[in-house]
Amino acid sequence: MSKSKIEWTEDTWNPTTGCNKVSPGCKNCYAEIMAYRLRAMGVNGYENGFDLTLHPSRLEQPLKKKKSTTYFVNSMSDLFHKNVPLYSNPFFEKNIHP
Ligand code: SF4
Repeated sequence: MSKSKIEWTEDTWNPTTGCNKVSPGCKNCYAEIMAYRLRAMGVNGYENGFDLTLHPSRLEQPLKKKKSTTYFVNSMSDLFHKNVPLYSNPFFEKNIHP
């Protein structure tokens, strides 16, 4: 996770990175440009560039925060990508499902 300079959020949390372009709206995808830049910089988690990558070790990061925090969730991916096993993940089952 990393502190954000975006005014409406306090932190970013990317339990997945990367994606696939699925529509014309993806043409200028910010996450894709940043993923290649971060890989070139050797930033941990971007070894696969913009290929969809799951990061199970990051799943419980927000639970370790002591204070309430507003997150930008998956600024570098699509949490609802068809290959993200969202509904079989115990963290999401416990915390997001009603
Ligand atoms: S992150 Fe969003 S804009 Fe980028 S490729 Fe995926 S769906 Fe398209």
